[in-house]
Amino acid sequence: MHAKRMNWIDPSPTVGIANKVAELKAKGEDIVSFSVGEPDFDTPKHIVDAAKEGLDKGMTHYAPSNGIPEFREAIAEKHLLDNNIPCDAKHVIVAPCKHTIFMTCLAMLEEGDEVLIQDPAWVSYEACVAITGASPIFVDTREHDFHFKPEAIAEAVTPKTKMLILNTPSNPTGIVMSKQELRGIADLAQDHDFYILADEIYEKIIYDGIHHSIASFPELFERTITVNGLSKAYAMTGWRIGWLVAPLDIQKQVAKIQQHSITCIPPFAQHAGIRALTGPVGPVNDMVEEFRARRDLMTKLLNELDTFEVEKPEGAFYLFPKFNSDKSDFDFVEYLLEETRVVVTPGSAFGPSCDKYVRFSYAASRERIKEGIERISVENHEDVLKPPV
Ligand code: GLU
Repeated sequence: MHAKRMNWIDPSPTVGIANKVAELKAKGEDIVSFSVGEPDFDTPKHIVDAAKEGLDKGMTHYAPSNGIPEFREAIAEKHLLDNNIPCDAKHVIVAPCKHTIFMTCLAMLEEGDEVLIQDPAWVSYEACVAITGASPIFVDTREHDFHFKPEAIAEAVTPKTKMLILNTPSNPTGIVMSKQELRGIADLAQDHDFYILADEIYEKIIYDGIHHSIASFPELFERTITVNGLSKAYAMTGWRIGWLVAPLDIQKQVAKIQQHSITCIPPFAQHAGIRALTGPVGPVNDMVEEFRARRDLMTKLLNELDTFEVEKPEGAFYLFPKFNSDKSDFDFVEYLLEETRVVVTPGSAFGPSCDKYVRFSYAASRERIKEGIERISVENHEDVLKPPV
């Protein structure tokens, strides 16, 4: 019999849907996928070339567990220069971004602890917290246009609050937290003595706002674990390269889990990671500009459909519209898949308050966006899709 803690978590809906899409596509089905958060661009050539160079140099054995020194230095420098986080290489551990979140939760949380999570938020935060025996506490953000407002957080804080998970720009809503909002959260963390796990993986995919790192407030560094990676900005989801930047006492605890679990990230991939961080920024900027055009197009087309309501988000590559139908979000998503071969992700996968929302990822070409939204136009599905209330 499996461990009881496995009953506290469900399979990942985002990964599950991605697997299903891959299966259907392999069978030759014409699927329009707005589901998984994965850029459809190729990894920029100079990064791929660096990996090949690493392989040619024989970088195929174990690397130092926390990451190769040059990469850790490049990561620390990036955080110092771009994010104003007062760190150096010793604060860094290289690992897939998801794994850094999992390891941090394992290293920091135990039964009885509470962890504040914005509702909606990326689904695996809840699982990473729950598997440790700690309790995820969702803070409904709908009233504040999905911003994780300090005043709402203040109401949810208790003496058991050990950590708050912050994701800006946010998956699934694309909101970008302002410096003032982060200041409010920083004050609460100080006053109530809790840690912040700051997931900044969408940092570079930003259109209108400015990204701020909460660990840049000097007094916050000692209580913040910042995680980031190459997956989204550099179209490198399959490479599994991310990292955390943490105060030394936490970094040391996480390093033990890294040593006992994955050991290290392949060194040729880290070699490519150095090139990503230090090489030309043109390809990233081009991808962001294309995402901007897709965001504008998809927001316009969805709002024209007259069953969805959605604001243009400032960052990431998702829209999180409210829909109007008698169906639940899961049934609605199933209906779209069966009847239109368009795949989206149900809102309640991201938090308990969002069962009348769905997530559209616009990591798909403009042609596919037009094609997919045409397929779900209301005239074709009047019995299921209704105008907004
Ligand atoms: N983070 C992406 C998403 O939300 C990728 C899948 C996953 O890791 O959950 O779709």
